[in-house]
Amino acid sequence: MKKIVSLVLCAVIVLCTSAPAFADDGCKCGFSPIIYVGPLGCTPIVRDAGTKNEQQLWKIDTKFLLSKLGKVLPGITKGLLLRNSDMLGSALVEFVNACFGDLALDGEGKSKANVTTPELNVPTGSRHGPDSDYYFDYDFRLDPYEHADRLYEFIEQVKALTGHNSVKLKCSSMGGVVLSAYLDKYGYDGIDVIICRCCPLLGTAVAGEAFCGKIEINSTSLTRYGEDAIPFLETGFADDFIEGTLYALLDVLKGAGIVDALCALGDRLIKEVGDKVFSDALIPVFGTLPGIWAFVPEEYFDEAVKFMKLPGQGGLHDKVFAYRTAMANIENNLKSARQNGVKVCIICGYNVQRTPLVTLWKSTSDGTVDTKYASLGATCGNVKEPLDAGYLNALKNRDYLSPDNMIDASTCALPECTWFVRDWLHCNGNAGIDELFNLVMTSDEVNVDSFEKFPQFSEADDDADTIYPVTGAPDEFARFRTAPTFLNFIRFLFSAVKRFLDPLFK
Ligand SMILES: [Zn+2]
Repeated sequence: MKKIVSLVLCAVIVLCTSAPAFADDGCKCGFSPIIYVGPLGCTPIVRDAGTKNEQQLWKIDTKFLLSKLGKVLPGITKGLLLRNSDMLGSALVEFVNACFGDLALDGEGKSKANVTTPELNVPTGSRHGPDSDYYFDYDFRLDPYEHADRLYEFIEQVKALTGHNSVKLKCSSMGGVVLSAYLDKYGYDGIDVIICRCCPLLGTAVAGEAFCGKIEINSTSLTRYGEDAIPFLETGFADDFIEGTLYALLDVLKGAGIVDALCALGDRLIKEVGDKVFSDALIPVFGTLPGIWAFVPEEYFDEAVKFMKLPGQGGLHDKVFAYRTAMANIENNLKSARQNGVKVCIICGYNVQRTPLVTLWKSTSDGTVDTKYASLGATCGNVKEPLDAGYLNALKNRDYLSPDNMIDASTCALPECTWFVRDWLHCNGNAGIDELFNLVMTSDEVNVDSFEKFPQFSEADDDADTIYPVTGAPDEFARFRTAPTFLNFIRFLFSAVKRFLDPLFK
């Protein structure tokens, strides 16, 4: 009898200890759950949440922004009219601080107590499968290692809820920063797929340059930035017509010299008030955010530390420096994950004009993240241009060269599992790319030769919501023939005019 009682007791104890996770019984569906690690701004940052003064600071709501702008507009106008740069600078500083000042962290890298993220997700429910994911969000300002700790707990919870002993991580944009910190601290145990979608794994030049004060408004980059963004507009009404008209308008303004005049004005303003705006507003706010520091590429880092006046010690300093290890190790961490059976897919855009505010505007990108940083080291031609002839002639291994000669992926950390999509705007949704992700998640073998429909180099077609293989240099006429829309007609028309006019001006 005693024996039976103790056996029953043992059984009860075993059942109780494993009760939180029936996981140990395992889910038999064969598809481990997806955790989507979101981009910057994936959750609202709120001041005085739950009180009558509640104000969303990020993403900033337009009404709040306009109300603050209304307050400083007289100062800005007066400053501009009287050409008084002190007055103008003070108004701009007041504006930036009123809108973003409370986002600043303290010397320990901690948020103000009344500035919080009240809507952070906690995993619930056990639904999982190819069409369902758990959304991991975070306060983008904070130390990426804090997110890594939370992600660890999150993964454990998801495993317990679903009965799987591994998960798939699908990281979008800044999600790659969280991933880098995670892999560095926790490794890849319990992860079977890693997808990096437009992730600034080695940073982004726009952050590096801005944190070194290298701001420049350039009319060519501004126009191209507009041109490249226009096809992705969702106006909700007569999309194609509006896009085509805007495209034409932008090019006419550029042709008439109006864009150049505006840029010259902008540049003059930056020279006059830039220092003040940096020292009194941008540095005290954005210079205190380890999350933004994580975007600064290694080659800019030392100069940025000086320019942004990062404190020489304390929590903030330590957090900013700690992430350098994650960035330095991401290549090897992903390599060893892959060598040990984790399926890895890095995918990035190219040939989109980058943010038109920095001196390095020719760096090819998805508009936000440079292709060389997102791909862990591809060698790239300038935006809209092939690699130079000398490089191409000397190239021995052409297996990873794009058919348009713009990208050589052989210099990437993981060339065999890095995909490139021409004209793909940063993180824009695309059903074709989602199809690739599904294949990555369900196939045994994942490399750039695995899927006939998705070779290493594709081109985004936003209208058709898909991607198709790159076969040669960008050709506006071919684009128009494939998709005869008004926008594509205008693009073809202006490209023909430019081809005709450019030699005349040169
Ligand atoms: Zn399952």
